[in-house]
Amino acid sequence: MKNHIIFALIIFSILFIVPSASLSYFEKAFGPRGEVNAEVQTNEPVKKENEDAIIKSSNVDVEPDLIKVYNTDTNEVMVIDFEEYLKGVVASEMPAEFNLEALKAQAVTARTYLLYRIKKYPDGQPEHLDAPICTGIHCQAWTSKDDLIANHDEGWYEQYWGKIEESVNSTKGQILTYEGKVIEPLFHSTSGGRTENSEDVFVSAVPYLRSVESPYEGEAPKLHDSSKINVYDFISKIKSVYGNLDITPSNLKDKIVLGELSEGGKIKTLIIDNQEISGREIRSLFNLNSTNFSFIQTGNEIEIITTGYGHGVGMSQWGADGMADEGYNYKEILKHYYTDVEIVSVK
Ligand SMILES: [Zn+2]
Repeated sequence: MKNHIIFALIIFSILFIVPSASLSYFEKAFGPRGEVNAEVQTNEPVKKENEDAIIKSSNVDVEPDLIKVYNTDTNEVMVIDFEEYLKGVVASEMPAEFNLEALKAQAVTARTYLLYRIKKYPDGQPEHLDAPICTGIHCQAWTSKDDLIANHDEGWYEQYWGKIEESVNSTKGQILTYEGKVIEPLFHSTSGGRTENSEDVFVSAVPYLRSVESPYEGEAPKLHDSSKINVYDFISKIKSVYGNLDITPSNLKDKIVLGELSEGGKIKTLIIDNQEISGREIRSLFNLNSTNFSFIQTGNEIEIITTGYGHGVGMSQWGADGMADEGYNYKEILKHYYTDVEIVSVK
């Protein structure tokens, strides 16, 4: 144990354009969780007695019946029914085994995101000019019913399609707005315990994308993960970008120092041999699940431990499923992960 040298942490999210989707801390070498979190505001999900009925919105446009979607597999633009499209998104972005309330939350974010894209790119998104949205993770994942059936075990359709349909149909027309405008509802797989402020991951501070607690992610398969790398490979990867750094297997412990942590507990910056390097850059370099990471050196081997999966902004999908299992409904889930939003109907 003595020659286990724990030396650094850092993390954070790479620019998943929209997600598929992060939270939690370890006891980093820098100190126990309590210390890292000492100044973090607590905002556990709030359970409300009775949600207000969905208000019909007059501030946002009504949704169209048909939409154009660029299919990244066929390179063709499909014209499909708006609500039908959403079923193919929900089934692609979340396991159908998830709690129905979590699927409903995903249905509302899918609808909101689609409308956001339509309004932002009425003449087509620059990377697929004939349609405002595509079927890849560049926008939000969509899979046809035939492909969903082919991609799942026999019996999946019979067992789960009704549930997917219910998630969309029971939230028909419902979207998320902030101050009367359609929001960009970013989401991710697993925050690791707390989501991120948008400006810590992307460029700007968005008022509804604030760091909040995400306490129910215990079932998430990538809540904790680890991989091992030879110390020489580790050093050469860093030197492939920062060739002038004076780092060796024997001095890493002293040369890698934590820079700044985000409010969400992820690594914004590391200082390696006096060079500031962003957590996102480290995440990309080592292909890590998130920017919540730590390094443990044992001889010539380095173990990289990560917490959470994805960029960490907006709704945590595993956190949403965990909240649903705790009894929260989809509106409570959405209002927890998206700060000060309203759920309105555009149908
Ligand atoms: Zn796209």
